[in-house]
Amino acid sequence: MLPEGFVRETFITGLRQKHARILPQDIAFSVENGWLPLIAESLDQIEHALDRHGWIAKASVRQIKEKLGDLRIYVRPRRESASFPKALSAELAVIRDRYTKKSVETCEICGDHGELGNFDGYQQTLCPRHADQRRAWVAGGRKGDLFND
Ligand SMILES: [Zn+2]
Repeated sequence: MLPEGFVRETFITGLRQKHARILPQDIAFSVENGWLPLIAESLDQIEHALDRHGWIAKASVRQIKEKLGDLRIYVRPRRESASFPKALSAELAVIRDRYTKKSVETCEICGDHGELGNFDGYQQTLCPRHADQRRAWVAGGRKGDLFND
């Protein structure tokens, strides 16, 4: 569950400040609130790995998004022609796999335990309550608010 008084914009502003070294100013957080704490943890680990390998000034996060129901955070060298050394690549892969796995067990809306479901062709990881709301919205002809709390 998200902490009481959770405010999306405040949380994202905090992440932008804390991880200014690796987050481009205009990067979008293209996920719902339930995954923002996972992104915070993941960015801590990504930044730490880059730092330890001496890549902090030479790498950046390119995208943060949901795809096919799981969380994707893409990290790349700033120079297109550069590539990460093997050991760093391996560490980033471990972090990526860890958070892909956590994301498919975490409701993207509220952060409660969830599972990956298929909702009339659209994949999303949701808790039972939000999965019910999504099914009801599809059944009702996709009118009005998808999630009502
Ligand atoms: Zn939920």
